[in-house]
Amino acid sequence: MIRLLDPRLASRIAAGEVIERPQSILREFLDNSLDAGCTEIRVEIEGGGIDRLSVIDNGTGITRKDLEVLGNRHATSKIHDEDDLYSITTLGFRGEALYSIGAVSKLTIKTHSAETGEASTLVIDNGERQEIISSGPDRGTIATAENLFSDIPARRAFLKRAQTEAQMIRSLLISKALAFPSVRFSLVSDGALRLDWHKAETLKDRVMMLYRSEGIADADVESLHHDGENFSVDIIAGNSAVRRSDMKEIRIYVNNRPVEEFSLQQAVSYGYGELLPGGSYPYAAVFIHDAPELADFNIHPAKREVKLRNRAEIHHAITEMLKSGIRRKIPRIEPVQPEFYLDDAKRTENGRKTESFRSPSPSYVPRQFTSSPATPKPVSTEYTETDKAWLEKAKALKERRQQEEVSQKPAPTETEKNIPSFRYIGQAFNLFLIVEIEGELWFIDQHAAHERILYDELVSQKSVQKLLVPIHIETDQISSEFLDEHSQVYTKLGIMLSKRDDGEWEITALPASCRPIETEIVDFITSSRLDEKELESKLFAVIACRAAIKAGDSIDRWSAEALIEKVLMLDEPACPHGRTFLIKLSEKDLRTMAGRTS
Ligand code: ADP
Ligand code: MG
Repeated sequence: MIRLLDPRLASRIAAGEVIERPQSILREFLDNSLDAGCTEIRVEIEGGGIDRLSVIDNGTGITRKDLEVLGNRHATSKIHDEDDLYSITTLGFRGEALYSIGAVSKLTIKTHSAETGEASTLVIDNGERQEIISSGPDRGTIATAENLFSDIPARRAFLKRAQTEAQMIRSLLISKALAFPSVRFSLVSDGALRLDWHKAETLKDRVMMLYRSEGIADADVESLHHDGENFSVDIIAGNSAVRRSDMKEIRIYVNNRPVEEFSLQQAVSYGYGELLPGGSYPYAAVFIHDAPELADFNIHPAKREVKLRNRAEIHHAITEMLKSGIRRKIPRIEPVQPEFYLDDAKRTENGRKTESFRSPSPSYVPRQFTSSPATPKPVSTEYTETDKAWLEKAKALKERRQQEEVSQKPAPTETEKNIPSFRYIGQAFNLFLIVEIEGELWFIDQHAAHERILYDELVSQKSVQKLLVPIHIETDQISSEFLDEHSQVYTKLGIMLSKRDDGEWEITALPASCRPIETEIVDFITSSRLDEKELESKLFAVIACRAAIKAGDSIDRWSAEALIEKVLMLDEPACPHGRTFLIKLSEKDLRTMAGRTS
């Protein structure tokens, strides 16, 4: 039998689509307050917002006349006809929220109309509308929802613990507050002040209120702006020193609404490219202002999704902004693992405390690099050629040593190696590391030295990591045939390729230093058709370019000392012929030069 639903029941079913939990009520209340042009919003919750949730604003308020119709379905002051739907500039527009909230809780709206000066209060208790009373606040509006779903146990059962609901409230408030820097937001939960964000002067100042609480420094965050044809984009984003292992801090806003837009999150990732190591994601808040007629929010009840008619352009703009605007942070060299040292006393002689040693676990992602902010480096997609003669020498040296190892007694392993104590004096010309060591002064060319060390690390395959999920390589027949012949060149540098049954290829293992540049390596593999020698030196150049400290990089003491230690671990700390990265001056020579005889 077909029956018409009782109107109260019908309204509750409809409400369920919009109101799932206290967080949904907060979203609607906040939207209303922001639409009412307020400058301060205070949120108060009890029991995770289930028992009570109030939003107090200092906006325009509501006239008594409007309050009479408010809370009826589709009662809105924001749109009037269908055309308005295509040019929405407010956060709310359906006139559905208060009606729905009133259907599933006890809704109280206390308001003071700036226009008429009247104060009035409306209560809708689980669908029962009460008479309007002539009393209320001195200004603005207080919207309160109490005892959510008290009349609908089935819905209430889906709510989480109060603490969890409170957490969701907090994160929604933060997410809203980021887009409205000029509004002060505070949150009081069960009587305790949980958040108080004052009015901020700029978007970056507002976003920093969140980032700073995560330990991110102002200097590591950029503020970017771009004007497009019908849109503008502002991005507040961390540089390559700031990263996390999930995409949660890639926030996308369209016309001040946080939206779930995976493709635009991806645009952000593309923009960072290989600036971030594989598996890590940036902190970036992207605020898009699109012409209202191009952005359609009418597809999702909670307006979390948007259809952008100019998405491709915006996508492109975001990627380009980040590509050109986010600085490369100078790579950090991690010190030799402490277990390489047998003699701990020796270590302290170096004047460094053993505690200063962090041994990075494989999953260790340093959150903050310390490098001089004085030398911002624009991101460059070019890589400089590695000196070919130099590479040949490094190779020859390595091979010679390997042969020696075979023919003679086993070479001492690194763990047995004793590193002489040294004193790092400083860096000259952003290029030479100056070290005092056993009666000599050493000048180490940081770039050449680091390249040499990287090369050794690659060839010795110490840091090769097996990939849990192999990287698939799209190959045409020519590249596949090329790989059949030349895959050993890659193997030599720790890039393990294997051919699948269907003739396609995949990368199954990579050196750790290559993880951040996976895409470049794949590009390289699919596009390079060089002879073996060329292939190896080009490939190494690609890797070294990204991973090596450059001439001109001002590096910190930590990295400098780590690099010096690695130089000292080399059997021969320089290419004996050809270009060297090490210049030595003995104390004796210096004394003689200064005319000292004793
Ligand atoms: P919508 O926001 O889609 O118009 P709502 O049900 O959320 O629908 O609100 C209905 C109307 O109530 C709004 O259009 C607005 O005129 C008024 N209103 C609600 N909350 C406030 C507030 N905090 N300050 C001023 N006006 C408000
Ligand atoms: Mg609304």
